[in-house]
Amino acid sequence: MKSREQLHRPLNVLTALLLSLVAATFAASAGAQQTPPCTVKPASIPLGQTVRLRCDVPATSARLDAHPSATPNARTVRLFKQASGDWQGLMPVAVEDTSGTYPIEFLAADGIKLASVNLTIRKTIFPTQNVSLAPQIEALHSTPDEMKTLTTFRDAVSDVKYWDDPLVAPLPGCVISPFGVKRLHNGKPTGEIHAGIDQRGAPGAPIRAVAAGVVKIVQPFNVLGGTVAIDHGQGLETMYLHMSKLNVVLGDHVKKGDVIGYVGSTGRANGPHLHWVVYVNGVPQNPQHWVTLKSCAAPKKKS
Ligand SMILES: [Zn+2]
Repeated sequence: MKSREQLHRPLNVLTALLLSLVAATFAASAGAQQTPPCTVKPASIPLGQTVRLRCDVPATSARLDAHPSATPNARTVRLFKQASGDWQGLMPVAVEDTSGTYPIEFLAADGIKLASVNLTIRKTIFPTQNVSLAPQIEALHSTPDEMKTLTTFRDAVSDVKYWDDPLVAPLPGCVISPFGVKRLHNGKPTGEIHAGIDQRGAPGAPIRAVAAGVVKIVQPFNVLGGTVAIDHGQGLETMYLHMSKLNVVLGDHVKKGDVIGYVGSTGRANGPHLHWVVYVNGVPQNPQHWVTLKSCAAPKKKS
């Protein structure tokens, strides 16, 4: 005859199995609850690039404090409700920011903190580049009115999103001068960084809008030359310089790929090329992070 103990053994095994199944289910649901309502992509980024912010909860702003020498220190950007039902925004990391790991805090309209997600900003080296300019070209300066027009454009953030991924290249030409290089003019340091990129282009070659948007500047500037600036909405803006001829008027709604002007060498330029700029919430960003372009420099041989 079997002992009680032997009879009970299979039952004990079954109970243990059931208990572990229940425990696993609880652990899984607890894990799901811990998923943060907001995300930052990518979570690690070089200087001069853009972080995509997304929330399942109604966050209307996000705050990053990665620029200790700036006043005010923190950069706050807006998030906007999307057709998909979530809230999205763009956080720029500036060339002047300090590398390290910082929280991005997501806030509701009433200022309540909804989430905090860490962002790692990586050390990024930008090379130095000399540009040779004729004396009369180097002597060109922006007027206070021109500066005001540019600042007003940069600081504006509009509610309607006209742009969508991916952006298109404004010109097929290779990159003569990348973003972020420290600029020398005729061997003298200028204290300026190259806040956009220069692309090779034949004089008169068409220049296209990288995304849909509203034309906010159509104007010849002393330093920038023939300029078009486009607001793509919700914090994304682009600007195109040194053009020979402009093909849009103020207030035009352009589509992605529309011709907005033609390659020239107007303003402070040492030859025909397109200099263009991406602003994210007023901060210049690396256009090569948004559009894939070849470098004009000979590719290094693979070892
Ligand atoms: Zn340039």
